[in-house]
Amino acid sequence: MQWQNSWRRILPYPDCVSISLPILPLATPGQRYSCHGCGNCCRDFTVQLRPEDSQRIRQQAWENRIGTNPIVVFRGQEYLRQLADGACIFLLDDGRCRIHAEFGFETKPVACQMFPYMLAPSETASQMGVSFACQSVVENKGKQYNEQVSDALKIVLRGIPEVVRPARSAAISRSRRAEAGELEALKSRLVRWIQCDSPLHQRLDGLAWIAQTLSVAQLNKVRGSRFKELVDLLFDALADELPLHPIGSAIPRQIALFQGSVFARTEDPKPVAEGAPGRFLSTISQLRRNRLWRRGIADTVVPPIGIGWPTTATFGHVAQVNRVRESPELTACDQLVSRWMRSSIEGGRIWGSGYYGWNAVDGLSAFVLSAATVGWLARLHAVDSKAHAPSLANVQAAVGRIDRTAGRAVWLGGWSERMRLAYLVRDDGLRRLVASQF
Ligand code: SF4
Repeated sequence: MQWQNSWRRILPYPDCVSISLPILPLATPGQRYSCHGCGNCCRDFTVQLRPEDSQRIRQQAWENRIGTNPIVVFRGQEYLRQLADGACIFLLDDGRCRIHAEFGFETKPVACQMFPYMLAPSETASQMGVSFACQSVVENKGKQYNEQVSDALKIVLRGIPEVVRPARSAAISRSRRAEAGELEALKSRLVRWIQCDSPLHQRLDGLAWIAQTLSVAQLNKVRGSRFKELVDLLFDALADELPLHPIGSAIPRQIALFQGSVFARTEDPKPVAEGAPGRFLSTISQLRRNRLWRRGIADTVVPPIGIGWPTTATFGHVAQVNRVRESPELTACDQLVSRWMRSSIEGGRIWGSGYYGWNAVDGLSAFVLSAATVGWLARLHAVDSKAHAPSLANVQAAVGRIDRTAGRAVWLGGWSERMRLAYLVRDDGLRRLVASQF
């Protein structure tokens, strides 16, 4: 409540938007961010336009000057055109944005103004988070996030008025809504566990165990104080329970589903690149890539991930790189992964409006699967350096790649991902996969 009042006091644009929700800033201590002008977000992201963005860009009359329409339509949505290398049509050679340079910051698409800030509204508040797809965020470079949050707020409020209006809060599970304090209780215990002294791989194992246990629990009759009691019981038992339930290696079906999940989390069809295929061809190509990933065996070359990723590494090469726990920079890797997890949870990005409207139990399961995917991608990223285990730079690349799609790739919120998780929460699937990467 203290935060809510203070934010209401300092809001600088009272006539700009109708604010009906307090905005809660990210609580992750030590998180830093300042824009360092790397331009990565303009090279590798697909910018979807809101109607007001398109209108503004059309009024700027670019077509004559750049020789092409900067707006393309794909599957009924408007996007900024990209060049063959993925760069935005407005990205200048020196890394600056041409719209910004000629017309000013406030005339860029809202998505560009916002990045890397994220907002996740619920019925009572809008939680502010930050995307680890930003190089400065993932490297923790720049000013303390909390020192500049009022600047961020100005951008946010100017950019996206709808996210300060109430949205449906996350449910606890598929079959029941959350009651007062339940989500907060779960969130608080998750964050406490992430910060405990256990090694990183044990903390991730604990998260997987919690996700699996809640996924198969009958929560309909466990409500309010009984739900909070259950959450406390589970977390209090973790340190003693985990050693009593050792796990083996992932089985082939779990591995195939996991590789499919890496594909789903890194897929970037680039529908707006110059010369991109039409909808039918791009769908067929996507299905082919999905099959390749799921079947990926030792001598299969890993399909392209993007700029800066190995292009000739095979699945067998990745298997030869040790798990993250063997990293020579394990402490720094641990700090990064912990910061990312905590920020995602506290930023409202693992369930509810921050994650496809998913309920808390399914959102947590998907988040654990994403964490396992970070481990695999870090090992893939390490292949070219011939290192025996991932370095901090490898884990940074992996976290950045995973956070780029989190909450943005529509297929991750769809039925195929739900089916994948429904299988993996059984037979210790999530635990085995996390253990195989960390
Ligand atoms: S419009 Fe500007 S800020 Fe947005 S992606 Fe393109 S170059 Fe970057």
